[in-house]
Amino acid sequence: MPIIRVALNVPVDTLFDYQAENASENDIGLRACVPFGKKLMTGIIMAVDSETKVSPEKLKSVHDIFREIKPLSTPLLDLFHFCSQYYHYPFGMVIVNSLPVKLRSNKPVKLKKSPDSHLFSLTAAGKQINLSSIPVRSRVSRRLLTEFHHATALTSSQVKQISPRADKLLQEWMQLGWVLAIPNPATVVTKNVKKPTLTPEQAIAVNAITTDIKPFNTWLLHGVTGSGKTEVYLRIIEPVLAQGRQILVLIPEISLTPQLEAIFRARFPAVPLVSLHSGLNDTERLSGWLQAQQGEAKIILGTRLAVFTPLSDLGLIIVDEEQDSSFKQQDGLRYSARDLAIFRARQMNISVVLGSATPSLESYYNVLSGRYRSVRLQSRAIRNAALPVIQYIDTRLHKTQEGLSEPLIEALSKCLAKKHQSLVFINRRGYAPVLLCKSCAWTAPCQRCSSRLVVHLRDKKLCCHHCGHEEHFPRACPQCGNQDITPFGQGTQRVEEALIAHFPTARILRIDRDSIRRKHAWQNILQKIHAQEVDILVGTQLLAKGHDFPYLSLIGILNSDTSLYSTDFRASERLFAQLMQVAGRAGRANIAGHVLIQTEFPDHPLYVALQKHDYDALAQILLAERKIAGFPPYVYQALLRAEAHHIKTVLDFLRQAANLAEPSKSIEIFDPVPAQILRLKGLERAHLLVQSRSRKHLQEFLNKWYIQINTLSTHKVRWVLDVDPFEF
Ligand code: ADP
Ligand code: ZN
Ligand code: ZN
Repeated sequence: MPIIRVALNVPVDTLFDYQAENASENDIGLRACVPFGKKLMTGIIMAVDSETKVSPEKLKSVHDIFREIKPLSTPLLDLFHFCSQYYHYPFGMVIVNSLPVKLRSNKPVKLKKSPDSHLFSLTAAGKQINLSSIPVRSRVSRRLLTEFHHATALTSSQVKQISPRADKLLQEWMQLGWVLAIPNPATVVTKNVKKPTLTPEQAIAVNAITTDIKPFNTWLLHGVTGSGKTEVYLRIIEPVLAQGRQILVLIPEISLTPQLEAIFRARFPAVPLVSLHSGLNDTERLSGWLQAQQGEAKIILGTRLAVFTPLSDLGLIIVDEEQDSSFKQQDGLRYSARDLAIFRARQMNISVVLGSATPSLESYYNVLSGRYRSVRLQSRAIRNAALPVIQYIDTRLHKTQEGLSEPLIEALSKCLAKKHQSLVFINRRGYAPVLLCKSCAWTAPCQRCSSRLVVHLRDKKLCCHHCGHEEHFPRACPQCGNQDITPFGQGTQRVEEALIAHFPTARILRIDRDSIRRKHAWQNILQKIHAQEVDILVGTQLLAKGHDFPYLSLIGILNSDTSLYSTDFRASERLFAQLMQVAGRAGRANIAGHVLIQTEFPDHPLYVALQKHDYDALAQILLAERKIAGFPPYVYQALLRAEAHHIKTVLDFLRQAANLAEPSKSIEIFDPVPAQILRLKGLERAHLLVQSRSRKHLQEFLNKWYIQINTLSTHKVRWVLDVDPFEF
């Protein structure tokens, strides 16, 4: 009896063998429900064989093989393989985690009727067939043929209406060469949609990318904010759609999907598009996934996880805001969706376009070294829309109150008088308002983590932003009894309250994680902004990304200095990207934009480069620093992350792991260090960095090391390898 080898969602790197009657090679990639321990589990069939090493008395039989949907394709399985190997994560878990929840269940899925992506019509041979040549008792055949004679083309649902069996007959006729399936013209690019004339820079970019679209290429579309990168995407998508092929568009934030989806739908009204993001329910996600797998959906728009979508005929991949850290998963399988997108493009021999105003230094370096090709957009697309003017308010001269300096208040007030919108942006990276006792310097700690509790003034609560713990404000300082303990630092709420006090009649809207939690909250907010029902926006990085605010003319930035002297070597790169992005929100239409940054270090090279909108200048400085310090992109890194109840256990484990590593000239192994936030969710954490100038050497090393670490007795320690780590 045939044996199937199944990948299951368990933390070991093996496949599991089961007996399966009727299984064949064609079943590779299908879901199989199998007994595992005392329960049933559903995984993916990876191989079909006639032999097994499992002894007969231990060999179990498969419970069910689900054949209602197509198997996962070989290229997709290869992607999972690569992912498992590169990130050192159990293969079965890589696959199962990427599947929609409904496909992980031990049940077959119910399929909804799919939209008609194809039209069927008789071929020349089919037209030769005479109705009288078909026996009278073959009623379905006769009706199908009659229908074909009445209508030149039929959709799949029209065929099914004739009789459920007609569909099968149709397949037979296609095999016989009597019927031909052609893509439904409704899905082909429409010509009469209005398009703007490309700017000369856009035209060059589109031309470069499209004339070379077939073979594998990684393009960096490096364009300042407002330079019209989206229009470039639309133009390079068009020829791919015309070939009937699929386009995968990855974006960093779920909140950006509605906006981009609307743009795509307006340009390609008849093209089936699906959005895949974490806001979908299980049924919606499954439906989108299936439409992508079956090739019905032509544009697949999604966040990180969408990089694992099965795509039967992928023709192009776009990664918008490629530098964004949300493309890197920060727990479990720590993959980079951007890097996997490049893997997929290479695998399918197609182009991948990485778009950004401030590329990651890794990508920028890859352009310099000739591995990526670059196209640049240096000016804004809309005529007369200049880049915003950036100025600094020196807070050593202009002291701030509640985070706001006098010159900023003045500028806001002028902006209000002109009835323009303004934005007060608070950099929250590595910073949050805490409760501070001014007499003994006590701050409220989280009981479960070592992090500080963040003040939420409105509901008088203290919240831990790491583990979610919440508690009420204490009446007095638990350390010294002082009753005058006050929030310290500028949270969005504090600034909002200060602004209300300054501008009592202004319409002020605060936007942070809390205010957008509800479904459709974002859409409502964006609508309000566009309808000019808001005068002053107050918010965090959420506001920085991609959104278009045509009436915004002033942006005030608070707190950005906290990132200048961070211990994270990527902090400057991120701050620059973020400030460029925020600044880019201003002056996008006919209103000139003005950015005011409060800082104690107006002469810092980062700020100087920012003022000139000179990404290259800063990139050169940062690259030089990284080269000397031996940081990426000049080296490749991996972190061994570990956590346990006591830091000592963690450090012991990491030391043991380091001792196992074979010394090698090409691999550098550092000492274990406690994580910046030592305690998280009741566990203490530390990590060990290894790096190499060669990615290949690092991978070879990790392969061996991973096996060795697995031999350590680690029942008290949870560990994981983080390849190309982003956060330390
Ligand atoms: P980016 O993503 O590069 O920041 P967008 O794609 O959001 O920029 O484009 C900025 C604005 O320019 C949008 O309002 C867009 O409609 C407009 N735009 C883009 N290309 C053109 C063009 N060729 N002619 C006129 N307007 C354009
Ligand atoms: Zn906590
Ligand atoms: Zn105190």
